Amino acid sequence: MTDDAWTILYRGPLSSCNYGCTYCPFAKTSNTRAELAEDAARLERFVTWVQEINRPVRLLFTPWGEALVHRAYQQALATLSHTPHVGTVSIQTNLSCKLDWLHSCDWTRAALWTTWHPTQTPRQKFLTQCERLEADGARYSVGVVGMKEHFDEIEQLRQELPPHVYLWVNAYKRDPAYYSEQEVRQLMDIDPVFPVNNRRHASLGRACRAGHTAFTVDGDGHARRCHFIKDVIGNIYEPDFPNRLAPRPCGTATCGCHIGYIHMESPGLTQVFGDQTLERIPLGWPHQRPDPAQISALAEGGVAG
Ligand code: SF4
Ligand code: SF4
Repeated sequence: MTDDAWTILYRGPLSSCNYGCTYCPFAKTSNTRAELAEDAARLERFVTWVQEINRPVRLLFTPWGEALVHRAYQQALATLSHTPHVGTVSIQTNLSCKLDWLHSCDWTRAALWTTWHPTQTPRQKFLTQCERLEADGARYSVGVVGMKEHFDEIEQLRQELPPHVYLWVNAYKRDPAYYSEQEVRQLMDIDPVFPVNNRRHASLGRACRAGHTAFTVDGDGHARRCHFIKDVIGNIYEPDFPNRLAPRPCGTATCGCHIGYIHMESPGLTQVFGDQTLERIPLGWPHQRPDPAQISALAEGGVAG
């Protein structure tokens, strides 16, 4: 995959989830049959556009709520994984869906960004789903939010997952002083890249690929630089769309999510994740663990909290 590949994050109108995480606006919500049909139609249009653009792309579906319980998203992942100019196609999921469709994907391109929600599903049930991913040769990472009350469960999960599966920990950042130094070290034993996420990275005026070689797309084809800057820069279904892409410095103070700061020139997370940035799997994992000194240097540009 060449460096001029576009990195595209897609988020359609779907806004429902079968889980009930208390902090989430989509918890235990549902879409009507008509809304789901509309979402599927827009997804199909996006997939067709990707198939026809004939240029290298990397894709990540970042739905509101849970999308992979719907056949339309399973089929989209499978179809795009067989599209030669798609370098990688991944989707964020709580992994609660049936997995009878896994065989239809080319897992050299497809991957799953899975998240375990300890309050919503028992660890053993989540691990059983992971065993099914293993059996079908699926590539995937597993993530969890680093709440203190779940530390023991997170450590257990690390021990019970196959060593080749990367377990990332998202920092709880609402309280800037949430973790002690010892707790940070504890989480780094599980996820060596944790310090990079345990920061909001100063971004105002800094170089970022978002809006140039990376962008987000909604169900109407409207493109934005990223999920955190609402201005529309163009529409992918317009023929002049490529002309709307240009280098731009970031316009917000900080950037605190993996799906945002991965696009920044600094910290340069492609050093850590390479071509596996969207599926969130460090290069060489597990044989080559990211170097703590390098991670600390990458995290240093951030501001605590
Ligand atoms: S699984 Fe994700 S989308 Fe669903 S309720 Fe929990 S946080 Fe929200
Ligand atoms: S630094 Fe983050 S918020 Fe700023 S443009 Fe890039 S992705 Fe968006």
